Amino acid sequence: MTHLSLLKPTGHLTLGNHLGALRPMREAATGDSYYGIADLHALTVAHDPAALRALVQEMATLLLAVGLEPATLFVQSHVPAHSELAYLLECTATTGELNRMIQFKEKGRGVPTTRASLFTYPVLMAADILLYRAERVPVGDDQRQHVELTRDLALRFNQAYGPVFTVPEIATPAAGARVMDLQDPTTKMGKSHQSGAGIIYLLDPPDIIRRKVARAVTDSATGSAAVRRDRATKPGVTNLIDILEACGGSADGLSSYGALKTAVTEAVVEELAPIQKRYADLACDPASVTAVYAAGAERCREVTAPVLAAARAAIGLG
Ligand code: AMP
Repeated sequence: MTHLSLLKPTGHLTLGNHLGALRPMREAATGDSYYGIADLHALTVAHDPAALRALVQEMATLLLAVGLEPATLFVQSHVPAHSELAYLLECTATTGELNRMIQFKEKGRGVPTTRASLFTYPVLMAADILLYRAERVPVGDDQRQHVELTRDLALRFNQAYGPVFTVPEIATPAAGARVMDLQDPTTKMGKSHQSGAGIIYLLDPPDIIRRKVARAVTDSATGSAAVRRDRATKPGVTNLIDILEACGGSADGLSSYGALKTAVTEAVVEELAPIQKRYADLACDPASVTAVYAAGAERCREVTAPVLAAARAAIGLG
C-alpha cells in the first residue's frame, strides 16, 4: 500500500524527528513509499532563500544517511504536479472552510502580512496526498483537520466532476517515541523551538550532545529511587529514560541522575554515530545525493501524471 510522508525543511532535524518519525519511516519503507521534502510548504512563512536551499540540501542528505532509500525520495517542488493540482483543488475549496483551519486561525488569521499561501497551504497538502492515491494517511492530531479537508475536497471533486480521487482514510500513526525538550520537558523537542539548548540535532557532535544532556532539567530528588518514570511530577527524568530506552539502553540499576545522563549521552551518541558517518561521506559527494533525488522526482512525475491528467480532464481543461 502506498505510504506517503512529507517533512517541512524549516529547521535542522532533531533527535525527536529521528525517534518519532524518521526511524519508523525507515522501518516502514518499501518500494511503494514516497518520502518528500516539502519545500513549497516552507515558503508559507517568512524565509531566507539561501537558508532554505541549504536546509533542503541538508535534509536530502540526512534522509539518505538515515537509510530511507528503499522509499522514493523527492523534493516537492521538483514535481510540478503538486502545485498544479493544488490550484485545481483551490477551485474546489471554499474560503469558509479554509478560514476554519485551526492552524491558520492560530498562526495567521487577521494579520495583514500573513502570506496568502499560509491560508491555502491545507489545499496544497490535499494535493500532496491525493496525487499519490494514498489510501490511509497516518497523521498526528495537529494535522488531522487538514486530512479531513483532504477527504472533503476529494469527495466534492468526485461528486461534481466524476470519480478521479481515492478518498483517504485517516489512520493513527505507528507509535514512535515522543521526545521532549531537555530544558522544558513539558514541550516537544521541536526544530523550530526558539533556543537550541534543549534540542539535540542529528548532526550535533558528541561533545555538544554530552553538554546538552548534562544540562538537561531533572529535579531535586536523589538516590536510586529518584531514577524512575513519572510523567506528571518528573517530566525531565521521564524524558531522559524514554530517550535512553528508545536508543536501546536501559535505566535499570542506575542510581543517580549523573549516571542516567552518562548513559543517555552514550546511547544517543551511539544511535547517531552511523548516521553522522554516512552524512559526512555523502556530503563529500553531493552529486550522488542529487542523482537519488532526480530519480525520485522522475518516478513521482510518472506516478502522479495520470492523476493530474484525470483531474484536468474532469474539471474541463483541454
Ligand atoms: P515537525 O518537525 O514538527 O515538522 O515534525 C516532523 C515529524 O517529526 C512529524 O512526524 C512529527 O510527529 C515528528 N516529530 C517532531 N518532533 C518530535 C518529537 N519531539 N518527538 C517525536 N516526534 C517528533
